[in-house]
This record gives sequence, structure tokens and C-alpha cells, in this order.
Amino acid sequence: MLDIVTPTRPLPGTSMDEETFEAFLDQLRRFIRERLIPAEPEVIEANRVPQWLLDEMRDMGLFGLTTPEELGGAGLSVSQYIRVIRELGWPAPAYRATLSINTGMFSTALTKGGTPEQQREWLTRAAAGEIACFGLTEPDSGSDSAALKTRAVRDGDHYVLNGTKRYITNAPIAKLGLIMARTHAEPLPKNAHISAFLIDMDAPGVTAGSPDHKMGQRGALIADVILEDVRVPAANLLGGEEGKGFLAAMQALDSGRLSVGAAALGLAERALETGLRYATERKAFGEPIANFQLIQAMLADSRAEIYAAECMMWDACARAERGRATLECSAFKMFSTEMCGRVVDRVVQIHGGAGYLAEYDAERLFRDARVYRIYEGTTQIQQLVIAKQMLRDFVAGS
Ligand SMILES: Cc1cc2nc3c(=O)[nH]c(=O)nc-3n(C[C@H](O)[C@H](O)[C@H](O)COP(=O)(O)OP(=O)(O)OC[C@H]3O[C@@H](n4cnc5c(N)ncnc54)[C@H](O)[C@@H]3O)c2cc1C
Repeated sequence: MLDIVTPTRPLPGTSMDEETFEAFLDQLRRFIRERLIPAEPEVIEANRVPQWLLDEMRDMGLFGLTTPEELGGAGLSVSQYIRVIRELGWPAPAYRATLSINTGMFSTALTKGGTPEQQREWLTRAAAGEIACFGLTEPDSGSDSAALKTRAVRDGDHYVLNGTKRYITNAPIAKLGLIMARTHAEPLPKNAHISAFLIDMDAPGVTAGSPDHKMGQRGALIADVILEDVRVPAANLLGGEEGKGFLAAMQALDSGRLSVGAAALGLAERALETGLRYATERKAFGEPIANFQLIQAMLADSRAEIYAAECMMWDACARAERGRATLECSAFKMFSTEMCGRVVDRVVQIHGGAGYLAEYDAERLFRDARVYRIYEGTTQIQQLVIAKQMLRDFVAGS
């Protein structure tokens, strides 16, 4: 039987008091309503978050949400951070994508695996709003990330990196990079052939490709990162030790999965509100379509599934605060993103023909939602993670 952790119990690890945090959430909701949502057409048209909005996001401290206060961040707990991401799931995904590598994968890997000196330098820069990217995926390795080919070869007090990273969020605008590379040519047990490197994205030999054309999420930029004889000081090897890169990446992915699950939850909530509004305004057979029970079924199923995802979010966050919660992070990511896919599909259906037209939000939300089931591990990879853990627990207990 699962012991669901509800928000009524005190959550361990909270470092901003609840009253201050609620005031911050109110301020954020206003910022989303008054600044981020109205700027969506500009972001979508230009395929970029405008500089003036990035500056406002920086001024609000959104790039340092999870960084400890002494390094210039807000020091939010996991639950608080994920609640913020859920709110940021409402406006265009470009906003969350631009800041969430700083606050998620990059800062988690550094907090858990960086040396104190690395944390001081790189977390401070990330919290101040220098945009970060996280490079794991390559042309020939995605789900099978341990098969990556990028090489890092020691040369005196430097490493020399060569390789290509693919689909890297923020690559065209990032200043900071956390790049996974092989420090051993042959695979080692526990993927100890992989190390992680902190790099300046404007270092000689680092090139970001031009932004890829995507199905949705305009303004969230992805591109290749090409590394050609990039000389990285040995002091930038994460944790100061070879072989720790894969663990850092996997720990970062736990946080990334919570974040994607929460973003999908926020997007589903916005989509449902859009569907509800349309259902009450649109008339067919002389009455609002919301009066038809088959439309109500789509609304009700969506609401119930959103509620289920929300409960999972609280529970997975509370568990992650107590230690590693890989199964629950995967289960939440899988359920919430698949749920979001079902909700946006129903919302298009509720809109009828209008749902297929670009001028209605339903069409964009449908496209924006799709990638949530793919990145930070596809649904199939989450199934493998969950099953592996279940079988491990079963064998250990029998
Ligand atoms: C918009 C976007 C942003 C991204 N941002 C980043 C980023 O910032 N940093 C980064 O490193 N990566 C990033 N990625 C990469 C992303 O994480 C990968 O695309 C994803 O992990 C899947 O890898 P792949 O594309 O190589 O697919 P593949 O691994 O080739 O998978 C193809 C299909 O096979 C299935 N499959 C694979 N292995 C198995 C298996 N063992 N059992 C069953 N089915 C399997 C998959 O589920 C999928 O359906 C991003 C991708 C996108 C689209």
C-alpha cells in the first residue's frame, strides 16, 4: 500500500517559510497574468523570449529559485520549486524552458556533485541569470545515454573535449554548459566511463548550431553543440573526480522529471480552462455545448486526471525531499505528461473545427504538450525505470 504524503503534513527541507513563499507565488501569478501571457504572441512570432522579459525574469530571481541563499538564490525546497514550475506551466513553455535548466538539471548536478569551489562559481553565475544548458543527448545516443561518444582526454591540467551534442535546450543562447563526456574509451561498470564538465559556452572550439525547427514550444530553443578540441581546465571536472558524470546526470534527471511533470500539469490546467470557456460560449442545437453530457464527460475526465497528477506531484516531491525517489519521479512524469496529452486532445475535440485552427489556443497547446512525453526520458524509458525498481524491490523483499 502506498503511503501518500499529503501537503497537510509538514514537508521536510523547506527553507523559505510558507507565508513568504505564498506571497512570492501570488507575485509570480500576477507576473504570469500581466507580463508573460500577454507577451506570448511576441515570443511565438519571434521564436525567442525578448530581452526585456528575460531581464524581468532575472530581476524576480527566477533563475536562482533552487540555489542556496548564500550563493544568491532563493533556496526553495523541492516542493516549493515544483509548485513554481506548475505555475510556469500556464504561460508559453518558452519561459520555463529558458530558466529551468539553471534551476533544475544544472543546479541539481552541481549541488549534489560539485565541489564547494565549483558551486560557488557556477551556481552563483546561474542564479544571477547566465543561461545554462545541459548536454547529454547525442546524434547516436538518446535513451541509451551511456552510449555517448563525446570524448574528454586529459592533457596536463586540462581536458580536451571533442564531440557533438544534439537537441540541447538553450544552446543558442547559453553562457554556461554542463557537458557529459567519456573519460574512458570502453564502457565501465556503473557507467563510470562518463564524466561531467562545466564549460563556458563562448570558449574556443564550442559552437552552437542554428535553432532546430520544432513542432511546438516556440521560443524554447534547441540546437546541436559542437565541441572541437575544447580545452577545459581540470578544475571544471564536476566533483573533481572522473566517472561521476552519469550519476550526476541521473540525479539531475530526477529533478528534471518532476519539473516536466509539473509543467505538463500546468499546461493541462490551462488547456482545460480554455476548453471549459469554449464549451460554455459555443452553442449547438440551440444551447451551449457544455450542456451535453458527452462534452461534460470530457471535462470531468480531464479534471479527475489533473487531480490525480496533482496528488502524485505532492507525494513525489515530498519523497524527493527525503532522499532519492526515482520511481515516484518517473511515475509522476509519465502519468502527468500522458495525462496532459489526453487533456489537450479532448480540448481540441471540444473546440470542434476551431480546435484545428492556429488562431485558437487549443491548437498550440496540443502541439506544445507533445514533447513532454519525449524529453527527460520518454514514456517508455519511465516504464523501464519503474519496472526495474519494482523488480529490484521485489527480489530484495522475497
Ligand atoms: C525539445 C527537446 C529538448 C531537449 N532538450 C535536451 C537537453 O537540454 N539536453 C539533452 O541532453 N537532451 C535534450 N533532449 C533530448 C531528449 O532527452 C531525447 O530526445 C530523449 O531522451 C529521447 O532520445 P532520442 O531522441 O535519441 O530517442 P531514442 O532513444 O532513439 O528513442 C526512439 C524511440 O525508441 C524508444 N526506446 C528507446 N529505447 C527503448 C527501450 N529500451 N525500450 C523501449 N523503447 C525504447 C523510445 O521510447 C522512443 O519511442 C531534448 C529533446 C527535445 C525534443
